[in-house]
Amino acid sequence: MAGSDKYFDVIVAGGHVLDPGAGIEGDYDLGITDGRITAVAAALTRGPTTRIIDARDHIVTPGLVDLHTHVYWGATYWGIEADPVAARSGVTTWIDVGSAGAYSFPGFRRYVIEHSRARIYALLNLSSIGLIAPTWEFANIDYCDADLAAKIVDANRDIILGIKARIDGKTTRGVGIRPLEIARALADRVELPLMVHIGNGPPTIEEVARLLRPGDILTHCFTGGDMRIVTADGRAQAEIKALHDRGLILDIGHGAGSFSYETAERLLAQGIMPDVISSDIHQLSIQGPMFDLPTTLSKFLNLGMSLRDVIERATARPARAVRRPELGTLRLGSQADLALFRLEEGEYAFHDVEMRRRSGTRRLVNTLTLVAGEPLAKTPERPLHVWAVLPEHQRPILERGKEGGSTIHSNADL
Ligand SMILES: [Zn+2]
Repeated sequence: MAGSDKYFDVIVAGGHVLDPGAGIEGDYDLGITDGRITAVAAALTRGPTTRIIDARDHIVTPGLVDLHTHVYWGATYWGIEADPVAARSGVTTWIDVGSAGAYSFPGFRRYVIEHSRARIYALLNLSSIGLIAPTWEFANIDYCDADLAAKIVDANRDIILGIKARIDGKTTRGVGIRPLEIARALADRVELPLMVHIGNGPPTIEEVARLLRPGDILTHCFTGGDMRIVTADGRAQAEIKALHDRGLILDIGHGAGSFSYETAERLLAQGIMPDVISSDIHQLSIQGPMFDLPTTLSKFLNLGMSLRDVIERATARPARAVRRPELGTLRLGSQADLALFRLEEGEYAFHDVEMRRRSGTRRLVNTLTLVAGEPLAKTPERPLHVWAVLPEHQRPILERGKEGGSTIHSNADL
């Protein structure tokens, strides 16, 4: 036991500890001192002032790392507030992908990141206006200012971990593949990973594949849109598969429009698993059928992936994707970011974005979340914005209550 001259501040006692990335699995106590993990072992000694968190009948994992989120509340179309959702979902590290561009990043840092208990990092949008509006951020090519973006990256390398470009028919309207060429050059110049979003083209998935490199992140990888990475005869798209074999990271980014059971089932059947499972949580997807990251992870459990494979894809692997291996781990000395889950068994229904239904028998339910050894208080979530109205075909999810995920209020009646 480390820190033997001092009692633990906190012991998370009696849980089933699971950190696939660090190779830790077993029924252990977890000792926390000064906000860091200082012991993972059976039956740790309790001091007179040690706070005990009872984790019996729970799975204890590293705090989840969500590789695709939108948490720039109040200044963007999509952003939600991270902290209230962190406290009920186990997500302690939020990678906001592209909500902020060069002009809006200083505000993101000052007004959101500095005030959040959850850890927030960012991929900077190539478009200098970021995601203030729902679409068209590249339609004015003047906003693709790589020199300006590089300056913002260099001034904020503690927080900016990559470059983001949404590439589909709505974002690039009229300018073709040019924004991705600029994003490619920018990512190479600042030596950070590039995350590319796909959906419905133009451009085509082939045009996008030409500009991707190993170490880049393809998000919405199981989309059912016409840029999907499954061919008409059900096989993996050849260029993407070759890139994936060489280290391209396939990231789920479920969202409100980007997760198809059909695509998922076809790729999983060929042994192609996503490298990272992320939520793409935002003003719309939080209403369902995505709901939150534990619900998204539960979908993959019920598609046949193991608990270990699923947890690794929401902890160590996303941390590695953004080159922050010190996050999403229970290794001794790490920040004590933890999540407690019950793995519930029953009859549950889950839906993809087209509201195709699958039944399942297991779901992960978060009960407690700690950042740097301190539990996050459960606080109310802000009302959704007036524009956050689900598309018509998804509205039935609002009546279905707790089928697969949690329910929150929505604006569907507006
Ligand atoms: Zn997104």
